[in-house]
Amino acid sequence: TITNELGWNFDNSYTRLPETFYSSTNPTPVRSPEIVKLNESLAVSLGLDLEALQSKDAAQTFAGNGIPAGASPIAQAYAGHQFGHFTMLGDGRAILLGEHITPSGERYDIQLKGPGRTPYSRGGDGRAALGPMLREYIISEAMYALGIPTTRSLAVVSTGQPVIRETNLPGAILTRVASSHIRVGTFQYAAKWGSVEDTRALADYTINRHYPEIADQEDKYFSFLKAVINQQAKLISQWQLVGFIHGVMNTDNMTISGETIDYGPCAFMDNYDPETVFSSIDAQGRYAYGNQPGIGGWNLARFAETLLDLLHDNDEEAVKIAQEAISEYPELSRGYWLEGMRAKLGIFNAEEQDETLINDLLSVMNQYKADYTNTFRALTREAHEESVLQGTTEFNDWYKRWQERFGRQEQSKEDTLELMRKSNPSIIPRNHRVEEALDAAQQEDFSVMDKLLQALSNPYDYTSVQEEYCQLPESTGLPYRTYCGT
Ligand code: AMP
Ligand code: MG
Ligand code: MG
Repeated sequence: TITNELGWNFDNSYTRLPETFYSSTNPTPVRSPEIVKLNESLAVSLGLDLEALQSKDAAQTFAGNGIPAGASPIAQAYAGHQFGHFTMLGDGRAILLGEHITPSGERYDIQLKGPGRTPYSRGGDGRAALGPMLREYIISEAMYALGIPTTRSLAVVSTGQPVIRETNLPGAILTRVASSHIRVGTFQYAAKWGSVEDTRALADYTINRHYPEIADQEDKYFSFLKAVINQQAKLISQWQLVGFIHGVMNTDNMTISGETIDYGPCAFMDNYDPETVFSSIDAQGRYAYGNQPGIGGWNLARFAETLLDLLHDNDEEAVKIAQEAISEYPELSRGYWLEGMRAKLGIFNAEEQDETLINDLLSVMNQYKADYTNTFRALTREAHEESVLQGTTEFNDWYKRWQERFGRQEQSKEDTLELMRKSNPSIIPRNHRVEEALDAAQQEDFSVMDKLLQALSNPYDYTSVQEEYCQLPESTGLPYRTYCGT
């Protein structure tokens, strides 16, 4: 079926890659799709027809019941290391409709998440539940507003069909928008099961799509590797700076574009503790908050391995070149983090001792179980009475050193506070508030979610709108747990 156009402008360059990279697959129609959430501002920025999107017909498209003209639905093949173990994966519950070209010429993947089985579904049903899809919508849009590169959420439709998990859950499909879905795992798939020419085709394609500035360089694969390392170092540092815990940093969940992807078990940290883990399946804490930068480096080393054949004809030389690029990661990662942390503390110029100053604050926060976001929020608002650190000798000592630090930069106090306001979100999607919004939504009351989304869309505003969301959850005595695959 071909539905009305809704303003789509598809061009499907991925299908021009060797066939090994995808399988043409249609979504499996669902009973009675209804739009439960539409991202109007994203729709407008994509150049879509907002009025048409609000119609009944649009629900059919977002459910995969009708394929828009120009789309060419595929499931993408990829592999990946899951918790350190290499395996074949692929889009088991996602179908790429195609790439939409916006009026200003930008290319975005339009992907349905939860549209039914694909050749890569293995034992799974290819479906998704409403709660987790709305959760992805909220958190990915919050990340976007925080200024962190991320896939986005255009719409969620309910399917009118249950999905069977431990209990029956209402089914849903999320329309995900991404600058692409090419993953470290896509390259691992090519390197493991494709020919060198397949890997080269994928690399050239990805360079043209994401790093066109290096396309004409002689050592472009080396530059490509370094560019991806740089993007990921920056991205993961941004996660650290806002206390975001991805939860499942498998290599298939790491994009080559440098966007955050796969909002399954992710969550924001409340009290500062580098060992924080939310995911129910991460028993060893492999993907704990404090491990994220290191895991990023591990994943990038797996990526580098996939490019060896392209880096040099001689294996030993290739390994040397890859190692040279990978060895830059720790310093890049630390550099982005330091830069961001200085800004969070209102520091403009760099001094050697800044890292100690930063780490000393973090360790006081850890010692007193201080909330990560609210501590920086209180420092920004000069509202120390709001902080559990207030009055402790450790904090008083640190505070004195911090104030002295301001004497060693030129900027005014106003400039300092301005930098801090731009660098410290006054609101994050706290787990208990997200849960509250999802609970109401499942009772068909979307007002709680809409209000939360509205507040999250301006995270660097310091008004009563954000203020309302800085309350911490009441302690239940149990750790908060997240789940993937629902
Ligand atoms: P994730 O943990 O979200 O990164 O997913 C890992 C793999 O499991 C991917 O290949 C997914 O496509 C696949 N997968 C997750 N849930 C399902 C499902 N309900 N049906 C089929 N495949 C799934
Ligand atoms: Mg995934
Ligand atoms: Mg997932």
